[in-house]
Amino acid sequence: MSEKLGLLSIYKLLPQTNCGECGEANCMAFASRMLERSKLPQDCPPMVKQSRYKKNLEKLVAMIAPSIREVKIGSGERTVKIGGEEVLYRHQLSYHNQTAIAIDVSDNMTAEEIRSRCVATEKFSMIKMGQEMRLDMIAVRAASGEPERFASTVKLVNEGCSLPLMLCSTDPVSLRAALEVQGVCEKRPLLYAATKDNWKEVGELAQRYVCPVVASSPNNLDGLVSLASTLESMGLKDIVLDPGTLVEGGLLKETVNNLVMLRRSGLLKEKALGYPLLCIPAVVWATAEMADPVVTAYRESYIASLLVNRYADIIVMHSLDIWAVLPVATLRQAIYTDPRKPVSVESGVKEIGTVNGSSPVLVTTNFALTYYTVMNDIEASGVNCYLIVADTEGLAVEVGVAGGQFNATKINDVLGASSIAGKLNHKRMVIPGRAARLKGDIEDTTGWEAMIGPQDSSEIGGFIKKHWDAPK
Ligand code: SF4
Repeated sequence: MSEKLGLLSIYKLLPQTNCGECGEANCMAFASRMLERSKLPQDCPPMVKQSRYKKNLEKLVAMIAPSIREVKIGSGERTVKIGGEEVLYRHQLSYHNQTAIAIDVSDNMTAEEIRSRCVATEKFSMIKMGQEMRLDMIAVRAASGEPERFASTVKLVNEGCSLPLMLCSTDPVSLRAALEVQGVCEKRPLLYAATKDNWKEVGELAQRYVCPVVASSPNNLDGLVSLASTLESMGLKDIVLDPGTLVEGGLLKETVNNLVMLRRSGLLKEKALGYPLLCIPAVVWATAEMADPVVTAYRESYIASLLVNRYADIIVMHSLDIWAVLPVATLRQAIYTDPRKPVSVESGVKEIGTVNGSSPVLVTTNFALTYYTVMNDIEASGVNCYLIVADTEGLAVEVGVAGGQFNATKINDVLGASSIAGKLNHKRMVIPGRAARLKGDIEDTTGWEAMIGPQDSSEIGGFIKKHWDAPK
């Protein structure tokens, strides 16, 4: 989607009858939903059904097509989508498809090692702020130079793992052998890579097996443009750009500069550059034979983080240590949350531990980071209690108090919608210390006593032990 696409330019192409068939109140509301990508032009039934709107429908579909093409890798439930981006800076709208993290295996590893890396990658799952963080793909490297060995490794990976594959070889014979393994081409693997030397053969494989393909031209952007244009001229649409991941001798700066130039040019719809970007931080291991593996994994982790932060849409990592992968996944989550929608949890009353009529009642907001921090601190302190989660539109305590979203009415709403009052032999709640100024208002509105709790939720355990005595 162009940065200049606006509400009115969309609205002008809609039927403007305000019929409501799309579920929105009027065409302007629909235009607004389209702008934020929660509706597509095809969601307007009159435009789809009536031939007089056909041209406008086509124009709208072209208008909202993202500047960076969205490329799908794999099939089924774990299909990976990369690209689809429309803005250079997250705050201009939002980033859409988070960076895919692929873990490598090679045909020089033992079968046991390959299986164990595949299982660890597929099962990786961490919950943060209520969202699951996972690893996305397996990159199978042809390190042996033997097509049959590469094919049997791909077979082993494909049979033992449901994740999408990236087939890594510049030898078209090896790539073809891997693609002919039963069930592999149906998974739409990403072919890595077409280069200036093999583009014809690899491009033909991508055509024949209908797979996305990487155009690779390390640290040569003119060469990359030429290569991507050539692949386009073969009719290929699902292309990923690899400008090279150079990390030694001060070249990391060049790598980052290349990524920024490519993304900037792609967003400006420059020819052959509107494609997702690929980086391989795992290259640090290629020159690390004598280095401490912990130091190398740490280096890979921070380079991967840097590249995720600078527009890499897919990265290939070798480290599987939790301390190396987790920082990258956590940063990715932070970058790819929608800045227009604060991450929130459902409001209501939660029971923590074993509660009874005299259990303490605490209050917090529905901003996910606040909620999970408070929950973790309460659980760690061993306090059994009720937790009132007020709907503050996803804002933290201080911001919610300042903006009026965290107020006595919101707390009263939760009390009214729950049965908590009937379960208790007291009417007392502990409010966050940062919401102290709401005490009087809360007491007037709810009829409950409001105790002012600590400023920081890590002090809840000590506060309850010290101040929560038998109910009055
Ligand atoms: S269905 Fe189409 S014409 Fe009707 S209100 Fe929605 S956008 Fe407007």
